[in-house]
Amino acid sequence: MERRTVKDTICIEGFGIHTGKLSRIKIHPAMNDGGAILFVKNGVKIKASPENVVEVRYATVLGGEGERIRTVEHLMSALYGSGVTDAVIEVEGEEIPIMDGSSKEFLEKIEETGTEPLGKPRKVIKVIKPFRVEDNGGYVEVCPCDEGMVVECAISYDHPYLSYQSIEVSVDNGSYKREVAPARTYCFYEQIASLLRSGLGRGGNYRNVVVVGKEGILNGPPRFEDEPVRHKVLDLIGDFALAGYYFNGKVKAYRSGHSLHTKFVKEFLSSDAYEIL
Ligand code: ZN
Repeated sequence: MERRTVKDTICIEGFGIHTGKLSRIKIHPAMNDGGAILFVKNGVKIKASPENVVEVRYATVLGGEGERIRTVEHLMSALYGSGVTDAVIEVEGEEIPIMDGSSKEFLEKIEETGTEPLGKPRKVIKVIKPFRVEDNGGYVEVCPCDEGMVVECAISYDHPYLSYQSIEVSVDNGSYKREVAPARTYCFYEQIASLLRSGLGRGGNYRNVVVVGKEGILNGPPRFEDEPVRHKVLDLIGDFALAGYYFNGKVKAYRSGHSLHTKFVKEFLSSDAYEIL
């Protein structure tokens, strides 16, 4: 596997799910040997890295030198799923556009433009022994696996409709595009008023968010019967992508979110549970 970048600049425009404001991004081919996904906002460069995560409430926010870029996870997930390891992403606005609430449109735009190899091997992180981080009744754990990246994920809420969903996905062999990328973000109907009061969710609508009511999905039909847990896999892949490595191992996540994902990645990277290939 080689490191890859996009063949040409990709321009994307849309509203942020939390700010509700219009923003624009340009995904440029990597100009030099950056070896990473690099965001640029108002001239400030912020590398996609767990060290640069500054907020994890309902979205993953990167920051540095007074600048913030909100809701990077779906774009990071699409880049990982399409094998793009190197790019410069110019951001105009506060937040990455939400598009249809999934990573499908990012993935399609990357595929339309095409990617090209950079002639250098992709950095691979291989799990060599089990490692687990727990938080607030949830956990993320990894163990060695010979089949690339496999994610086993379960969500569970004290909620009559969404008490439990689980799925296992192998991230390779085209299954990311088919099984994960189209899954939209979700929220509970009862949660909407308080989200809006706290200044979040202002760009959410019935097209880009699966709204879960007590008796089922309120804006159905969903794209998958288990769309919420698939979206959780999408988010996890986006947060793991911040590490900058192709991940080789099995991930098990239960009741996880951006806070636990990014905490896990930081602790895992400072552990002795892996080797770099
Ligand atoms: Zn998400």
